[in-house]
Amino acid sequence: MIKKIGEPNTYLFHVHTYRCKHAGSEKDEDYILKALQMGAEKISFTDHAPFPGNPFGNRMDIEQLDEYLSTLKALRKKYFEQIKIEIGLEAEYIPAFKYYYKTLLKDKKLDYLVLGQHMFFDGIDYSFSWTAEKKNAEEHTGLVNSMIEGIETGFFKYVAHPDRAFRRLKVWTPQAEELSKKLIEAAVKAQIPLEKNLSSMEKPHNFRPEFWSLVPENHPVIYGVDAHSTAEFERIAKK
Ligand SMILES: [Zn+2]
Ligand SMILES: [Zn+2]
Repeated sequence: MIKKIGEPNTYLFHVHTYRCKHAGSEKDEDYILKALQMGAEKISFTDHAPFPGNPFGNRMDIEQLDEYLSTLKALRKKYFEQIKIEIGLEAEYIPAFKYYYKTLLKDKKLDYLVLGQHMFFDGIDYSFSWTAEKKNAEEHTGLVNSMIEGIETGFFKYVAHPDRAFRRLKVWTPQAEELSKKLIEAAVKAQIPLEKNLSSMEKPHNFRPEFWSLVPENHPVIYGVDAHSTAEFERIAKK
């Protein structure tokens, strides 16, 4: 989870909060206390980013954003001497919101954005991966192309679960191989880390060894817990 290689359980990346509407009801502070109990040196909150006008469900509303930031900032102050707290958001790259990403980073002073492509803009409409009736191929292509565009903007610190784009595939295909290569090439060029998502490893076809076998050995990799409850947080982080 974590990492610093060789110092397991010290950096806890990719933690969600109750605001996303699909997580446990624990408060932000509970995750921090759990992290301290686990001996962590750093915890990174990257809840699902809201977007202006709330076009997507299953995440905090845009009206909650300031509260999310101020609560975590207050906790960062409170625990300053015990643990490093990073305040970020996990966001899809959707070109129409280019200005918004800048606002989050500059005006809202977010520590960073993580690229988590759960849907994409196909020029006509937003495609939601969890309800997609689109064909697999179309979905992989849309998600991967959006991630590549997102990587190239420089707005994002790392790419969350890049291989999850292929979760509907029971069997790896030549097309998946080609798309993976394109995505990895973009990440290498931008020197942006790729996240091995520990939560993906618990779900069938979400974590793809076929993808990771294409990633050069020296490319930076982050291990994200992607936790949506403190129980999950502890269980996954102990892997
Ligand atoms: Zn989530
Ligand atoms: Zn995600």
